[in-house]
Amino acid sequence: MGLPDKFVYKFGKLTTDGNRGMKPILGGKGANLAEMSTIGIPVPPGFTISTEACKQTIDNQMEWPEKLFDQVVEGVKHIESEMGLKLGDEKNPLLISVRSGAAVSMPGMMDTILNLGINDNVVEAIIRKTNNERFAYDSYRRFIDMFGNVVMGVGHDHFEEAIENLKKEVGVELDVELTAAHLRELTDRYKAIYRKVTGHMFPDDPMEQLRFAVNAVFNSWNSARAIKYRQISNIHGLIGTAVNVQAMVFGNMGESSGTGVCFTRNPSTGESKLYGEFLTNAQGEDVVAGIRTPSHIDELEQKSPDIYKELLSYTRQLEAHYKNMQDIEFTIQDENLYILQTRNGKRTGTAAVKIAVDLVLEGVLSQKDAIRDLVDPEHIEQLLHPQFKEDALGENKVIGTGLPASPGAAVGKVVFDSKLAEDSEDPVILVRIETSPEDVGGMSSAEGILTSRGGMTSHAAVVARGWGKPCVAGCSDIVINYKTKSFTNGKITVKEGDWISLNGSTGDVILGQKELTEPEFGDEYRTFMDWVGTVEEMKVRTNAETPEDAQLARSYGAKGIGLARTEHMFFKPGRVNFMRRMIIANSKKERIEALNNLLPFQKQDFIEIFEAMEGLPVTIRLLDPPLHEFLPQEKEEIAKVADELGVSFEILMNKVNQLKEFNPMLGHRGCRLGITYPEITEMQTRAIIEAAIELVKAGKKVFPEIMIPLVGSIEEFRHQREVVDRVAKEILSKVDENVDYLVGTMIEIPRAAILADQIAEEADFFSFGTNDLTQLTYGFSRDDAVKFLPIYIAKGMLKQDPFQVLDEEGVGQFVQAGTRLGRMTNPDLKVGICGEHGGDPSSINFAYETGLNYVSCSPFRVPVAHLASAQAVLRKKNIEEKPDEELVRPFDH
Ligand code: PEP
Ligand code: MG
Repeated sequence: MGLPDKFVYKFGKLTTDGNRGMKPILGGKGANLAEMSTIGIPVPPGFTISTEACKQTIDNQMEWPEKLFDQVVEGVKHIESEMGLKLGDEKNPLLISVRSGAAVSMPGMMDTILNLGINDNVVEAIIRKTNNERFAYDSYRRFIDMFGNVVMGVGHDHFEEAIENLKKEVGVELDVELTAAHLRELTDRYKAIYRKVTGHMFPDDPMEQLRFAVNAVFNSWNSARAIKYRQISNIHGLIGTAVNVQAMVFGNMGESSGTGVCFTRNPSTGESKLYGEFLTNAQGEDVVAGIRTPSHIDELEQKSPDIYKELLSYTRQLEAHYKNMQDIEFTIQDENLYILQTRNGKRTGTAAVKIAVDLVLEGVLSQKDAIRDLVDPEHIEQLLHPQFKEDALGENKVIGTGLPASPGAAVGKVVFDSKLAEDSEDPVILVRIETSPEDVGGMSSAEGILTSRGGMTSHAAVVARGWGKPCVAGCSDIVINYKTKSFTNGKITVKEGDWISLNGSTGDVILGQKELTEPEFGDEYRTFMDWVGTVEEMKVRTNAETPEDAQLARSYGAKGIGLARTEHMFFKPGRVNFMRRMIIANSKKERIEALNNLLPFQKQDFIEIFEAMEGLPVTIRLLDPPLHEFLPQEKEEIAKVADELGVSFEILMNKVNQLKEFNPMLGHRGCRLGITYPEITEMQTRAIIEAAIELVKAGKKVFPEIMIPLVGSIEEFRHQREVVDRVAKEILSKVDENVDYLVGTMIEIPRAAILADQIAEEADFFSFGTNDLTQLTYGFSRDDAVKFLPIYIAKGMLKQDPFQVLDEEGVGQFVQAGTRLGRMTNPDLKVGICGEHGGDPSSINFAYETGLNYVSCSPFRVPVAHLASAQAVLRKKNIEEKPDEELVRPFDH
């Protein structure tokens, strides 16, 4: 089969070739333009050049595929016939816009060219038709500026300088004060700049202008900033950008024209009310660029009630059609309303949950659709972000208030430079007059973003909201000076390195380092999570070893503890020296003595977490880490601890040296400790069983699951199980109560995964320790991989850090094999995952597809895991129910 050769897809009132399902080919913008045209929304006609055309052109050293030019000519004819205008015509000229649009929205990443088609003859025709010379030349000079900048790389500053000079010469302050004659002069100066910088005349032929513009969009796909944005946002697998060519409509034709952007609901709070801004007598770029400060959309209602009503009805239609909150761009040309773009609006976590719940209650979509499509795990994560402490806020020194562009609280040291923000070790707040796509690296590293210019739809606001990062935008109370590296509000000067705190929910900029506190959840959140709970099949447990954490996780809906790391309990003050005595013991007797001192602590710990998780399973893992971790390493510390233990410095020093290992992660740790010192396993078993008996005696339900770490062979497991069963039996034989305990194992050594059928002969359950499993599968040290993983990721050799997102292709095979083999022996084998991946949405999806019974993660990730678990169910069902739809299943290899 040859390469695809249909590259151009039309849209308009009469002919539309595409639809919203064609995002991979038409990009998000193009697919939505086609869809809107089909449902009767007034969209200016146009056509979309496919992503495939972009790919083939780039692959072929910027040579267009054979049929592309003819198809573009056809596309232009289609626009001409729908508009009754002609490109380059000297009577009724058509002007067009050229915009990029990939399958995934990348704000500010790609380029736009407006007013394409103007030349010296066309501008005259526009004057004759509109009787508005000023408008005609304003459009012309804007076109030269954009074309020069986007297509030929002529710096904006050249054009800015020309307009500033002209304003000075003619003695005006504002652009709008320039007359038609001034703008005609400015157009000539722009052309001269273009010629001087590029060495070429400005192209007259509209088709040539179009060809150049399309190539510029194709090229922008591989610009450094686009690549960086894709990297930071983890966007993979796209072949290129589509190009949308569309008839221009004009918001700058006078007072009866205008342009704006709006969200069908408030993107910060989710409130069900049209939210947005507009500018009279302006083109779209003026709103987005934040050059003029726009008016609130409510003012449109007062100014042009009919247009507002019409807009409202289209926004409702679009929201109902897409079953999602929409982000819409519109233009009013001489009292005629056009919708230029719609897409699912980016929103905060709070808004996402409220909108999802409201749309379900309004009957727009089902609970399941809302869970699957309207709230991302990242939104839930955002809701769990800290806020300022109430009392800390009481004594706030607010030094400015801007727009609450993206909620949440952030604290950091002021930096004015994005590169500095990227490199800083300290938490930072990035402070910029306004941000541009070049700043995305710094924005991503910063705790929060503060700008002094721009609105709720400015670059800073849109990007920050997408990432759930607190942002205060357009804070005109402050004046930023990059040269002196400071900003001032008139009275107070804040210098680089000073601490500030941002409240992205109120727009307050606060001097100093405020204390943060944990978030609270509203009714909508609870309703939404209740719905989630009815869908999920795979359980969510938590990794916790304190009653507080267990309680917190339970309040988030954790269905038990999947991993209690007992070593964490020994690090507590008052215990660590008993642990150390155990380690330096010279005989079994001495060791048992030290362990006996630890027993009551350990038993009390277990009583408390059993109580916190009453009625739910609690998996307790026996001691895992290498023993040297408990001993001091520095000389002074060794001397101090020797003193506390009542042994000589030399004895302790010798012990420290004796325990040193070349590869501690591969050394004397895990079940190897319990095998060499069974008395450790004995003590821990005793603590667990005795604690359980106390709860049973008190009439409480307790389900201990004792887990053996780092098992690589059936012999190791058998040995440890024998110790556990023996001790438990002995204790239980002396009491009337019974304790239903299980003995299972971590599967975290590849050997255990591929011999899981043997291990399942004796183990009651498996839990995948994907941290160690990843370490051992890749051969990447968990502790040292940070040195090279970022480089691997930057080089594209790894898509993600495999310690964060499970490597399904490799490590995932051990998870699949371990589960399959284990269940061959015991079809009812309970299998979970308790490595870091248990809280990662895509790894959770994988766990569900593999058929695991539960995932276990840190308390704060429990709600995220619930949603990911429910979404995994719905996505799988969706695929099964709609086998013909083109759905991307990340787990199809
Ligand atoms: C694991 O290895 O994945 C695990 C959960 O155990 P730890 O991180 O304590 O080694
Ligand atoms: Mg481990």
